[in-house]
Amino acid sequence: MDPSLIELTETYPGPDLFNAAPECPICRGGSTVIHAAGNIHPEKPYQFAFRRCHQCGHGWIDPMPSQGLLSHLYSTGSLSVIGAWGDSSMTLPEQVCATNELPKGTGTYLELGVGQGHLYRRFVEEGWQCIGIDPGDWARRFPGVHRRIEEISSDFRADVIAAFDVLEHIPDPIRTLKQLKAAAKPGARLYCATPNVESARARWFKEDWRMVRPMGHVNYYSSKSIRLAMKAAGFEVVKLRATDLCKPHVPRGLRDGIRVAVEVLGLGDQWSVIAQA
Ligand SMILES: [Zn+2]
Repeated sequence: MDPSLIELTETYPGPDLFNAAPECPICRGGSTVIHAAGNIHPEKPYQFAFRRCHQCGHGWIDPMPSQGLLSHLYSTGSLSVIGAWGDSSMTLPEQVCATNELPKGTGTYLELGVGQGHLYRRFVEEGWQCIGIDPGDWARRFPGVHRRIEEISSDFRADVIAAFDVLEHIPDPIRTLKQLKAAAKPGARLYCATPNVESARARWFKEDWRMVRPMGHVNYYSSKSIRLAMKAAGFEVVKLRATDLCKPHVPRGLRDGIRVAVEVLGLGDQWSVIAQA
């Protein structure tokens, strides 16, 4: 193994470290390396290969870190997986979830990737029965938050599930989505947001695209691969939109005009997904 790849494992004992990943993690199709993808740790700039699937257009990094290694790096706050925290408020897809679901009254809520808890807190405050999953210590201050998805009690069934900015962080998203499906009531709504590998910026900037962030981001979805992943786990996509998380508005100048056009044309960097169990 490349010595600098071993350095990325930090204090994780293994034995599961990295796997060669020539096949698509979603549809098992063949792939091509389209460019490099530099690890985000400032002192461990290992260059992964960035692959795209011939069949479904999905993107991922090769070699693929194991879930065990990634969970370990999150639990220790490694700079190979942790970037700067985003906004101090809810993102647009999170707001859509809150606006759609909170007025319906109370129910059961499951959130994967609680993070700073902007959305989780709202469901707790509104009296929903909430379970959260997050590997990091930062989410421990909220009630009902566990470290691992396996800790969800076997009789819990959610009316609403949120997994924002999660699907890009995990090596086997179909496995995780199946675990969410197992904890979903029939007809439950699943809300997700995850990077769009077909976005205008992805095509233009390639390896310098702002979403290319291994080992924080390991999977990158196309419109086809997100639908396939959902279907393989028993969810049906009912709404899919690519967004830059900016609200359409009258543009102020050329730069802002491009931003608004990207948003209106659905070429934004993030998929906003609503699926049904
Ligand atoms: Zn594929």
